[in-house]
Amino acid sequence: MQITALAGGIGGARFLRGLLAELAARAEAGAEPAQVTVIGNTADDITLFGLRVCPDLDTVMYTLGGGIEESQGWGRAGETYAVKGELAAYGMQPLWFGLGDRDLATHIVRTQMMAAGYPLSAVTEALCARWRPGVRLIPMSDERVETHVVIDDPDQPGQTKAVHFQEWWVRYHAEPPARSIVPIGVDAAQPAPGVLEALAGADLLVLPPSNPVVSIGTILAVPGIWDAVVAAVAPVVGVSPVIGGAPVRGMADACLTAIGVETSAGAVAGLYFGMLDGWLVDEVDSGTVVDGVQVRALPLLMTDESATRAIAAAALDLGAELAG
Ligand code: GDP
Ligand code: CA
Repeated sequence: MQITALAGGIGGARFLRGLLAELAARAEAGAEPAQVTVIGNTADDITLFGLRVCPDLDTVMYTLGGGIEESQGWGRAGETYAVKGELAAYGMQPLWFGLGDRDLATHIVRTQMMAAGYPLSAVTEALCARWRPGVRLIPMSDERVETHVVIDDPDQPGQTKAVHFQEWWVRYHAEPPARSIVPIGVDAAQPAPGVLEALAGADLLVLPPSNPVVSIGTILAVPGIWDAVVAAVAPVVGVSPVIGGAPVRGMADACLTAIGVETSAGAVAGLYFGMLDGWLVDEVDSGTVVDGVQVRALPLLMTDESATRAIAAAALDLGAELAG
């Protein structure tokens, strides 16, 4: 059984950890073993101090590989920030992005391999050889795609400026409203090797509760990926990242507002119009109706492993039902 998921960072990684735990339990109980392929968002990627940083790929890799800092959901466990302090002493900018010492090693390896000519997909595979995340992790594209956000310049009243998504999100906490959100380079990007095959060959396609605009949205914006999901024979089951009109944690509502979409479980499903077969919503959203889509309500807060496993189990069961 082949399962393919699209994923951003924290929301995607947490769900995937529950999915792997549930699949392991089912295999233990005699079910057919399943392989999971994850197509990761790379539009949050940024170059800092000459190093290529891929926050979403790393969050998935560290979370599934046992290296994540649980308390924040990103970065390395047991992290120290000596290099950051030294950069600050030199007056280097930007310092609003948390680059820890351990994490830096990942970015150094990645940057060195890319400078030697390896595509990001090959680099990701090499990094995963250390972390053994238990999934095949493929970046959505080997080409560079970077989400930029147009905001009113906080320092120059009356002017707008375009900033990297990370600057809007991490530095400004998505407080200045986004006038537009643009995945720069996406039109010229191609799906990375293995992406289209993983969509076409899957028995189940899963959309975890990742940010529908800047995580899943950017993956689907890579030419060819949307069509491959729609054309796939496998049922597509999604998990709502919105519960009771709020994005649970983070500021995803600011992204939805920017594209003129209401922050509700039903409106997010609408963004996946034409591809979705099943949609899991929280119990508080049990009244959600989506045309042509099987909607199931259950607790969707990923508070701990057993809660997250239950969500993954519901996605597997709904997928099996839709396939059968
Ligand atoms: P990021 O790249 O680190 O922002 O992570 P993702 O894009 O993968 O996921 C972020 C989204 O996960 C947030 O916008 C939330 O809507 C969603 N999310 C976070 N925690 C939970 C949870 O416990 N349950 C559900 N249903 N969604 C969650
Ligand atoms: Ca992200």
